[in-house]
Amino acid sequence: MKFALVCGAGGFIGSHLVKRLKREGFWVRGVDLKLPSYSETEADDFVVGDLRDPLLCKMVVDRKFDEVYQLAADMGGAGYVFVGTNDYDIMHNSALININIIEACRKRNSRRIFYSSSACMYPEYNQNDPDNLNLSEDSAYPAAPDSEYGWEKLFSERLYLAAARNKSMDVRVGRFHNIFGEEGSWNDGREKAPAAICRKVAMASKIDEIEVWGDGNQTRSFLHVDECLEASIRLMRSNWSGPVNIGSDEMVKINDLVNMVAKVAGKKIKIRNIDGPTGVRGRNSDNRLFEQKLNWRVSEPLINGISRTYPWIEQQVLSNCS
Ligand code: NAD
Repeated sequence: MKFALVCGAGGFIGSHLVKRLKREGFWVRGVDLKLPSYSETEADDFVVGDLRDPLLCKMVVDRKFDEVYQLAADMGGAGYVFVGTNDYDIMHNSALININIIEACRKRNSRRIFYSSSACMYPEYNQNDPDNLNLSEDSAYPAAPDSEYGWEKLFSERLYLAAARNKSMDVRVGRFHNIFGEEGSWNDGREKAPAAICRKVAMASKIDEIEVWGDGNQTRSFLHVDECLEASIRLMRSNWSGPVNIGSDEMVKINDLVNMVAKVAGKKIKIRNIDGPTGVRGRNSDNRLFEQKLNWRVSEPLINGISRTYPWIEQQVLSNCS
């Protein structure tokens, strides 16, 4: 039997990853500050604890794991990351988690470790014009992320890559681009754009107006969590360490995403664009390196993932109202 450790197993992507590894027959230990919010964990062992504590890290890495996935981070959507008031917590908490867990893994000879970085580490200056974006992996320097969240991701990428060079760790670094899906944050202040839009549309009446942050022409791409996991696991089990983008290259304007959600919901929604934190002007995943190294491509159209996610969020809204 193979053994996996999932750090951040109470979170959105981590809880889905536990289910996926269980389906593959792994024995899985999860660790997080909290249990998953929307379903029972399927982990064989779940430790509720704080990975900022080096002793807790030592305790959870008490054996050699075949695969370690480090997804734990102090993070959220634009309303958490771009408002300025959480900057210290984001940097301090996530850096400590990464420093502690890699050292604990090194001591137990658990060499194969996946680190979830983010597209937020890319320089802001390459993301101002949606028609001229540059998010190829080698465009990371000179570094100029637009948030402390992005700076911490860059620091930790370097930490993992240094451990690979100097300490014989076998690291894999994936840069996630806007992952969405069922059982993710939708109303706790950490939700991302797809979940926030699904919630607003679900709460609207048949014909209604909703508020959307920014002028609505900012662009993004969104990857459903199932494909994110497929890509991450393929990277983990490949001989390529990355860093590599894990995202969709189907770029949409935020207002077009609203129209897509409204269509899935069968509602007529008018958009009122208002001031709010938005992040960079444009972002899209450049998947050329992933496709070249892994010989596989992300291919699911955004509408398919929205068609699965909207009903889940609508259900949450309805049960919260009743
Ligand atoms: P999430 O917030 O749902 O999951 C992160 C989990 O880490 C949470 O459950 C949280 O409780 C846990 N955590 C935070 N501090 C901890 C601590 N001190 N000790 C133990 N656990 C702690 O986020 P997610 O969307 O599942 O993201 C997973 C990873 O992917 C994160 O590292 C995130 O930065 C990265 N990422 C996500 C996206 C996305 O769109 N979801 C995009 C880019 C990168």
